[in-house]
Amino acid sequence: MIRSMNPATGTVIAEYALHGPEEIEAALAGAAAAQADWARVPIGDRMALLRAVAAELRAGRDRFARLITEEMGKPVAEAAGEIEKCAVTCDFYAEAAPRFLADESIGSNATESGVVFDPLGVVLAVMPWNYPFWQVFRFAAPALAAGNGIILKHASNVPGCAAEIEALVARAGARAGLLRNLYIRGGDVGALIADDRIAAVTLTGSTEVGAIVASQAGAALKKQVLELGGSDAFIVLADADLEAAAETAVRARFINVGQSCVNAKRFIVEESVADRFAALFREGIAALRIGDPMDPDTQIGPMARANLRDDLHDQVRRSIEGGARAVTGAAPLEGPGCYYAPTLLDGVEPGHVAFREELFGPVASIIRARDAEHAVALANDSDFGLGCAIWTADIGRARALARRIEAGAVFINGMVASDPRLPFGGIKKSGYGRELGSYGIREFTNIKTIWIG
Ligand code: NAP
Repeated sequence: MIRSMNPATGTVIAEYALHGPEEIEAALAGAAAAQADWARVPIGDRMALLRAVAAELRAGRDRFARLITEEMGKPVAEAAGEIEKCAVTCDFYAEAAPRFLADESIGSNATESGVVFDPLGVVLAVMPWNYPFWQVFRFAAPALAAGNGIILKHASNVPGCAAEIEALVARAGARAGLLRNLYIRGGDVGALIADDRIAAVTLTGSTEVGAIVASQAGAALKKQVLELGGSDAFIVLADADLEAAAETAVRARFINVGQSCVNAKRFIVEESVADRFAALFREGIAALRIGDPMDPDTQIGPMARANLRDDLHDQVRRSIEGGARAVTGAAPLEGPGCYYAPTLLDGVEPGHVAFREELFGPVASIIRARDAEHAVALANDSDFGLGCAIWTADIGRARALARRIEAGAVFINGMVASDPRLPFGGIKKSGYGRELGSYGIREFTNIKTIWIG
């Protein structure tokens, strides 16, 4: 049984029966058949499905947004934005996929040679709860456009979202079974990966689960894309516009109640401006509106699950024991629901838990750097390598520093965020492969060489 709970109230929303061996077999057979058929549809014709999916998402936006908020607690205004972003991404690939996957001519010793992009088959998507629709569509829009089928194993706390995603893609006109949701346990994923009808696997989730799935996919010699955890640095140099940096810092850390892989987590600030930045940051945090996530004005709702809040508080406690200083927050909020006070830690250093581990919730850490060189060294002193922001008035210097940052993306004078037009992904323990843009759609294709003598 999978049970969804409302983290704002602790009440049970619904229960879903786990799928058994017969249903799993039927899903695999159905997805394989639907994908074989779908792969033969010319790419231009496949785009009608993406446009119809975008229309379904927009038509159901408010209902889907409320469901997201009910199941995982994010503020409903953000949930509505998430649905629109999914629709925009479907529209984007409907326009761009035929270009990204057009046959390419490459000169060689042949009369004619080049590549074509064939679909890989049915891809298993193991997805997290933090953006229950976006994480799925970020992968699914390009994967479907490329002619693949999808088996979805969503996180166990968002089963209602998983069902709605399957239903809306079917309503949009997808062949029966082309995107199939399965209610299974994480421990059952390995058997699916090993099945011959699964061609590849994509996982968005924690680094720990990434290592498990990577080894299973490795044993089965299957292609994988891994989008894992992050502990992004947000570097503020002494010449930065501090007001703008602090304002963006609040959004960059507290959006999605701090539960995003690309939330800025380590605020690395040049010593000479650190006190001023910390004061501005603290003011911004104090102004955040905490409350019922169904209220469109709420900016901070509950965290998604009680155990996640407990784990976060333990990390905060251990950071403070290690020498970090709590400027504000650092405790669960009284009352019902999994609320945690928006928290600012100062004086965080490389030995502290808040520096070394990913803190997946509303907790910001300030780390003081001697100068820009030290800031880059601190940013790179991490197991993770997802994103990084650099704030400075000197764009030339920022460009040069950006090349030395060990991350999949560097945003200068802005906050790291995904955009369907740009590739997204990490290095080091943040994973490998890319989603979105032209790079993402090619991950699950067979880049086939054609040579004519
Ligand atoms: P998680 O615990 O790793 O779960 C992710 C998915 O893996 C869920 O569907 C989960 O299913 C499944 N799973 C759990 N154990 C498994 C196993 N042994 N084998 C196969 N699958 C298994 O992560 P989460 O708590 O949902 O998400 C938070 C993490 O995701 C954070 O670390 C965050 O940084 C990362 N994340 C990364 C990105 C990115 O793009 N890089 C984006 C968002 C989130 P159950 O729910 O049934 O356990």
